[in-house]
Amino acid sequence: MRNKEFVKIVEESENIVFFGGAGVSTESGIPDFRSDEGIYKAWTEYGRPSEEIICRPFFDRKPEVFFEYYRKNLLYPEAKPNEAHRALARLERQGKVKAVITQNIDGLHQAAGSKNVIELHGSVLRNYCMKCGLSHSMEYVLEADGVPLCQACGGIVKPDIVLYQEEVGSDALDQAIAAIKQAETLIVGGTSLVVYPAAGLVEHFQGKHLILINKSQTQYDERADLVINHPIGEVFAGLYEF
Ligand SMILES: [Zn+2]
Repeated sequence: MRNKEFVKIVEESENIVFFGGAGVSTESGIPDFRSDEGIYKAWTEYGRPSEEIICRPFFDRKPEVFFEYYRKNLLYPEAKPNEAHRALARLERQGKVKAVITQNIDGLHQAAGSKNVIELHGSVLRNYCMKCGLSHSMEYVLEADGVPLCQACGGIVKPDIVLYQEEVGSDALDQAIAAIKQAETLIVGGTSLVVYPAAGLVEHFQGKHLILINKSQTQYDERADLVINHPIGEVFAGLYEF
């Protein structure tokens, strides 16, 4: 899908920042646990919505249930980057994309080759012992029986992701704001811009072109220079169809 205006803005921009949400990864086969479907699935299997499971008090109270849900619904070791991830990495190599800010925790932007990735909600690829801080791989967490315990001290190994009722790291937030403030073009994709801190971040943009790519409408549509209601992978693939 080639959107001429999108292609033109990207070609002319020297400082692009991309800010993406769950919709970027759904096209790699990772379902959005915050979607109606994800919430419903958690309700039917666990008797509570996904937000109540991926939440710090629940993690502390019932780590065995948390990790069962986590392995089934948040870990996708087979997932591969899609056209959107790949195009963004290519645009970064060309010097156009200065930063990718993501709400996703799957590491797919780095897998596609992006270097400056700001992960607002952390990454499932990093896991640390809560007692001694020892790092463990995603595979270790995936293959552990029940609650993953530290190889060195037996403490619980916690994924480095931001759970509900935990704060987004201030470093990541500061970096995201700085990148957005300097951007000439901000492309926001695959997010409905309602989950904190997504909505607030867009407010910092003072550049020329705000582009929104999302399947449904967002509250920022009127302020955007270009709104594309189309799957994001196809939109980015259009950059390289000539
Ligand atoms: Zn330990």
